[in-house]
Amino acid sequence: MSKKASDISCSSNIRSLPQVEEVLKHPLFIQLEATIARPILVDAVRKTIAEKRVLLLEDEDKVTSRDEIARDAFLRAVVNARPSLRHVINATGIILHTNLGRSVLAEEALDAVVAVARGYSTLEYNVDELSRGSRHDHCEQLLCVLTGAEAAIAVNNNAAAVLMVLSEFAQDKEVVVSRGELIEIGGAFRIPDIMNLSHAQMVEVGTTNKTHPSDYERATTDDTALYLKVHTSNYQIIGFTESVSAKEMTHIASSFKEERQAKGLSEILVYEDLGSGCLLDFSAYGLPHEPTVKEAIAQGCDLVSFSGDKLLGSAQAGIIVGSKKLIDRLKKNPFARAMRLDKMTLAALEATLRLYLDTEQARTKIPTLRMLTSPYDATQARAEELRVCIEEELNTLSALSPEPCADLFLVGEIAYAGGGSLPGCEIPSVAVALRFNQGNAFDCEQYLVQQTPNPIIARVKHDHLLFDARTVLSHDEMKEIAQGIKRYFASLYQ
Ligand SMILES: *Cc1c(COP(=O)(O)O)cnc(C)c1O
Repeated sequence: MSKKASDISCSSNIRSLPQVEEVLKHPLFIQLEATIARPILVDAVRKTIAEKRVLLLEDEDKVTSRDEIARDAFLRAVVNARPSLRHVINATGIILHTNLGRSVLAEEALDAVVAVARGYSTLEYNVDELSRGSRHDHCEQLLCVLTGAEAAIAVNNNAAAVLMVLSEFAQDKEVVVSRGELIEIGGAFRIPDIMNLSHAQMVEVGTTNKTHPSDYERATTDDTALYLKVHTSNYQIIGFTESVSAKEMTHIASSFKEERQAKGLSEILVYEDLGSGCLLDFSAYGLPHEPTVKEAIAQGCDLVSFSGDKLLGSAQAGIIVGSKKLIDRLKKNPFARAMRLDKMTLAALEATLRLYLDTEQARTKIPTLRMLTSPYDATQARAEELRVCIEEELNTLSALSPEPCADLFLVGEIAYAGGGSLPGCEIPSVAVALRFNQGNAFDCEQYLVQQTPNPIIARVKHDHLLFDARTVLSHDEMKEIAQGIKRYFASLYQ
């Protein structure tokens, strides 16, 4: 195709493209204007016309019409008018799904968020002294009671907490860390990168599978500021492994104490990045033992940091607990200001922590803990409830199709904690499985994500679509799943 020829034929096609205003006058849009804001409609029409122009330039034989552009722009406008950040129904069986927002908040936390967001609050106001207060005060006492630490501070997330600790205490100094703990958490959070960012000099010791106390001793110099222990929360090494506990690290650190004092050097700190931040002993509920924050403090760690929205089950936050002297320094670090929490997160965090004052209350009221520890029988009962819900909806389609659209049955499945927590821990669960007599699992999976008011995330396995009951939160969510599936089958008859 010579360029010249295409230019001539396309230009006439392109000239025939309608103006934005012309498309907006199309009957489809007259209808829409009542429900969708005009800027979204105009934007959708503009983008659709621009897209068609590119297509016409690429292909001289292509033709388009005002009707076609109106139809495409209409669909685009409907999609763009929806909120982008929406509720999702998680039927994957992965409890802490980072892509789906990790922890679901307890009702008590939600109420607290609404209460402080709807009006003014005591965010930085001390009512006892009628004076300016600190936002760091709201959770500190609770965190101390729950972990046994002297002091605490919460920032934007645990990645921020790690960065802040390293830059406050190890800038231009050495940090000793085991090669077995140099992890990437996902989304560009790598321990070596955080070291660089905080201008700490990383000193790697040991090997991937084994690190010994003597490795730390040998690596210690006058420039050593800190021993970093990282909980390898998203992977496991099995076989011949050995790592050095925080307790052993504190022994090593104190063995250097006198020598350093004589030289006028500060003590070596032991800091554990615990990742998940478990406040409850999971082994009491048939799950693997996950080190708790309290245990890390009891082992002698000077500082421990962990996430607010992993196993703790609250809002996104990074919590640092430890000695008062060190936490006070962190409170004055400029990062504490740059990475501070907003009032809604603080409200959620405080309310969630309050639930932990009673272990059984925490376990039943914090959705993350409830889903993790819910007994198999209870999950099976929920799966049966979901199956019945779906069956009832599908029965209403009998006029469309004499044959059932799908067969429904319960299957044993494995749920996971996810979010880099409890690695390798398989939680027995139950899912509703759909075997398709019409349509198929892949199309239905896509339909449920894209065409329902709230995306429904299921999982395809052996041509069946599975809905794990462990992460489906309520009867209302079950109803939505059932209606979504029904609409999928109904769409096959349109
Ligand atoms: C998850 C995790 C982080 C990052 O925490 P965020 O709260 O997601 O920023 C850091 N370290 C460890 C060991 C983790 O598991």
